[in-house]
Amino acid sequence: MTFKDLKIIEPILRSVKEEGYTQPTPIQEQSIPILLNGKDLLGCAQTGTGKTAAFAIPILQHLHQDWQKSKHPRKIRALIVTPTRELAIQIGESFSTYGKYTGIKNTVIFGGVNQNPQTNTLRQGVDVLVATPGRLLDLINQGFITLKHIEYFVLDEADHMLDMGFIHDIRRIIEQLPKKRQSLFFSATMPPTIIKLSGNILGHPEKVTIQPKQTTAEKVRQEIYFVTKKDKVKLLTHLLQTEQIDSVLVFSRTKHGANKIVRLLERSKISAEAIHGNKSQVQRQKALGNFKKGLTKVLIATDIAARGIDVDGMSHVINYDLPNIPETYVHRIGRTGRAGKSGLAISFCDAEERAYLRDIEKLIGQKVPIVTEHPFVDESEEVKHKPAPKSPRPKKKTWSGKKGGSVDFRKKKWHKPRPKNQG
Ligand code: AMP
Repeated sequence: MTFKDLKIIEPILRSVKEEGYTQPTPIQEQSIPILLNGKDLLGCAQTGTGKTAAFAIPILQHLHQDWQKSKHPRKIRALIVTPTRELAIQIGESFSTYGKYTGIKNTVIFGGVNQNPQTNTLRQGVDVLVATPGRLLDLINQGFITLKHIEYFVLDEADHMLDMGFIHDIRRIIEQLPKKRQSLFFSATMPPTIIKLSGNILGHPEKVTIQPKQTTAEKVRQEIYFVTKKDKVKLLTHLLQTEQIDSVLVFSRTKHGANKIVRLLERSKISAEAIHGNKSQVQRQKALGNFKKGLTKVLIATDIAARGIDVDGMSHVINYDLPNIPETYVHRIGRTGRAGKSGLAISFCDAEERAYLRDIEKLIGQKVPIVTEHPFVDESEEVKHKPAPKSPRPKKKTWSGKKGGSVDFRKKKWHKPRPKNQG
């Protein structure tokens, strides 16, 4: 499935391509046709699934097509209400990115800052307004905003809205919306209060449910190697030479680091290429092409460059550096084990990255199994990470340890290449 198959118009296809998206995410694949058909949508999905593009793209498409027909002055025709300032900014940026070639204007309003710059932009006219509830009502009451031209209404992160006590504000906003409109309602969870609220907003909605992102962490086999910063490249070389690794995406935090890894691997006759922001589009495409064809075994990428890379059947992901944002870890390891195939995500952790590991384990709700038998163990770190000794009982080895389980990951045998067709 491609964006073109979803009947997305050329100006949006162009910006999506520039973002490096090669195919729609599941929520986009399911929601875009529903929304282009003019139906209401009840989406059970959270941030990280590609939800923003799932609603921003069809809204931009509708607005662009109508705009071309009528050429009417700019009025607010799409309203997205979201609980926090950060989300509002992100959504506004997404509209700007995907709508770059559509001529559709958006602006973002939120509380806690001077309202004048916001009202100045509103005076000039916008098509899409992204808002947090309090500031939106404020500016409506002051006469800067009217909702009577709204054709598309999105309530984002409805469960957070209620948790943050916005229910009355939401009701007041809904009262002011025209009856004839297309409505979209997103929530990561669907308790009865949320279902009731959605009933007040939506007509006969189509429903789309997307599994939370964290399931990636449960699906993908993960390992952690404690190693000093200076031994990381030796460990990587060792793994590439001894493990049965067909194709591996190695994540490096910096561009400079990525280049260095390539150089050091090449010294050991391991074919590797790097993709990052300092490489031209042509160089990146070439590196990706070589990797896909199997000409290079190792692709080293920074997080930004890796966005939108789609390589099927990748057997391994290696986090040469641990990311400081735990969600990034989940994105990275989701690159392996795709389409029902099993994959392995290996992470190197040096002394400075211990805090990152703690944050990651907190987010994914599980301990990552530690590999203790390898030639470059950073003993000091490994010892620090060990839980306090427990009463002697048989140690279990498992890969699917959840928080609170009785599993012990401390010892995992250094594994040899796994022959596939034995016996
Ligand atoms: P969201 O759930 O909307 O916050 O999106 C999560 C991340 O996925 C954002 O960084 C988007 O830029 C990215 N993203 C959205 N759609 C796609 C796609 N089709 N392919 C690759 N990345 C995407």
